[in-house]
Amino acid sequence: MSDSSKLELLGLNLQGLTAIAEAAQEPSYRGKQLFEAIYRQRQASIDHISTLPTSFRKNLAEAGHSTGFPQIENRFTSIDGTVRYLIRFSDGQTVETVWMPEGDGGEAGDGTEAGDEEQGTRKFSRATICVSSQVGCAVNCQFCMTALLKVQRNLTAGEIVGQILVVLNDHSVDLDRERINLVFMGQGEPFLNYDNFIKAVQLLVEGVGIPESRMTVSTSGIIPRFEDFGSEPIRPKLAISLNASNEADRTRVMPINKKWNLANLIAAAKAFPLRNRERLTFEYVLLGGENDSPENAREVIELLRGLRAKINLIALNPGPGIPYQTPAEERVLAFQQILIRSGIPAFIRRPRGRDIYAACGQLKRMTELVELR
Ligand code: SAH
Ligand code: SF4
Repeated sequence: MSDSSKLELLGLNLQGLTAIAEAAQEPSYRGKQLFEAIYRQRQASIDHISTLPTSFRKNLAEAGHSTGFPQIENRFTSIDGTVRYLIRFSDGQTVETVWMPEGDGGEAGDGTEAGDEEQGTRKFSRATICVSSQVGCAVNCQFCMTALLKVQRNLTAGEIVGQILVVLNDHSVDLDRERINLVFMGQGEPFLNYDNFIKAVQLLVEGVGIPESRMTVSTSGIIPRFEDFGSEPIRPKLAISLNASNEADRTRVMPINKKWNLANLIAAAKAFPLRNRERLTFEYVLLGGENDSPENAREVIELLRGLRAKINLIALNPGPGIPYQTPAEERVLAFQQILIRSGIPAFIRRPRGRDIYAACGQLKRMTELVELR
């Protein structure tokens, strides 16, 4: 750990915070108080942690420690309630984080359907937060705006958790009453920033208080990480971006298929240790005239045979520099019907926040284009 990362408290686990308390000649339970204050109470500044004696707070500040929450640089609210945040870190890099009220059309991270429940007089609300794991992405998917940004750097565990803390605070979420799902489906490839991603998951479960059963991570298919991920004691559910029904098509739309191909990906999915009642999710971005034919749907059925899985169909969210078209609504419905008739649960994911550039990476890319002008 570098000295500067030791100064930053956000991202440290209970053990790390306890070590900081002990180094300041404080009793070790002060570490637990720091952990509770930063993650459970989501205090954005050491000054506000009233459970700690003023002398300790002063000591921490004098030693250069801070809780350094990222900043909300920009906030766009869609007519459908989706809020898209541009979040800025201390080095000026930005990522997108998205708040989607009421799940995502049946795409809640816990696999249940979206809905509202009344509890007393207060509405028992629920939402899904879509989180970024890297600034940009090195995986060169041809339909994805984030790919155009290239990878700038990994996010630290603190920066991954920080996105969620600021969004929860922005909505004054009470996690005891409100149901929050997390999807690691923002910018970046979580399995190419594996250690920080897993550390963030642990802090979110043990610190912030979001159960792992309400989290889903999506990967473009970084096969060597499947085994590590399957043996994690605490892990989200797994979603795999399939996006094509045969090797040639997949290599065209996701060139990473040359390195980790479809045959090996499906084999890795079959070997993945699912928990009781757990299902894999496959995501399939439908690209008009490219991967959306009835023949493609039949190939998908063959691929998924024998897997306990569901599939999410996502009509392409188009954008500048993306050489594909959104398929016609009938094509999407026909594709879904073929899958459903073969017994594969297939859901169409509603596009969220189209009016606020909600495609993966779109907001950041648009901001860049505007800045370049
Ligand atoms: N890198 C990971 C997670 C982030 S991308 C992955 O690829 O799985 C999250 C999802 O958004 C992926 O399933 C990806 O296929 C999808 N996606 C990317 N660009 C899209 C676009 N323009 N329209 C619709 N879905 C898109
Ligand atoms: Fe990266 Fe996922 Fe976009 Fe592919 S779809 S470029 S893996 S963020």
